[in-house]
Amino acid sequence: MIPLQDILKELRPTRTQLVAVSKTKPIEQILEIYQQGQRVFGENIVQELVPKYEQLPKDIQWHLIGHLQTNKVKFVAPFVAMIESVDSFKVLKEIDKQAAKNDRVIDCLLEMKIAEEESKYGFTRQEVEDMLRAPEFSALHHIRICGVMGIGTFTEDEDQTRREFRGLKDLFDYLQRTYFTGQQHFREISMGMSDDYRIAIEQGSTIVRIGSLIFGERILM
Ligand SMILES: *Cc1c(COP(=O)(O)O)cnc(C)c1O
Repeated sequence: MIPLQDILKELRPTRTQLVAVSKTKPIEQILEIYQQGQRVFGENIVQELVPKYEQLPKDIQWHLIGHLQTNKVKFVAPFVAMIESVDSFKVLKEIDKQAAKNDRVIDCLLEMKIAEEESKYGFTRQEVEDMLRAPEFSALHHIRICGVMGIGTFTEDEDQTRREFRGLKDLFDYLQRTYFTGQQHFREISMGMSDDYRIAIEQGSTIVRIGSLIFGERILM
């Protein structure tokens, strides 16, 4: 574990935003980090996020970072600050619908498959381009696409991690110039976790999602 302030000190000159990943951690421990000034927290499961939102201070910005099922969108739509794990057109349409019901615009990141190993969730480049070109996509007015998110392979091989993160940065640049020109809010590249955030920052990350380094190892996932 590293003190929050030390992590923030390291991140400050890089202008990277920290999402403190509090999944599996109790309210008291999250409050401790909150009291040290952290306001952005990440959770990966809706059933865990909702009660934490209810019990913790309302100025916390909650990022959903795990796979979201369509039927769960309605539970987070009233309050979630950002959904980083949008991995299908179907779920994006549901987010738009629920955001409209709540009279909100929800910030979203497109989760991309970047790992060289087989990964379960995320868009391929082809899928994301098909979506961005679809007329149906342009009809969504209650979501705002703020960038991309990716999870690197869990590996000791730093060169592989570096390649994967570079791939996400290149894809971001391509999408920005091809589909989001002049759209200031398309600016985030969420990549990097406890074990690889330094490599992510070196490759242009704007958001790092750090859990165990701040809260300690998780016993259950
Ligand atoms: C758990 C998780 C993290 C944080 O992982 P650590 O290795 O504990 O820093 C980051 N991103 C996602 C999507 C996660 O599920």
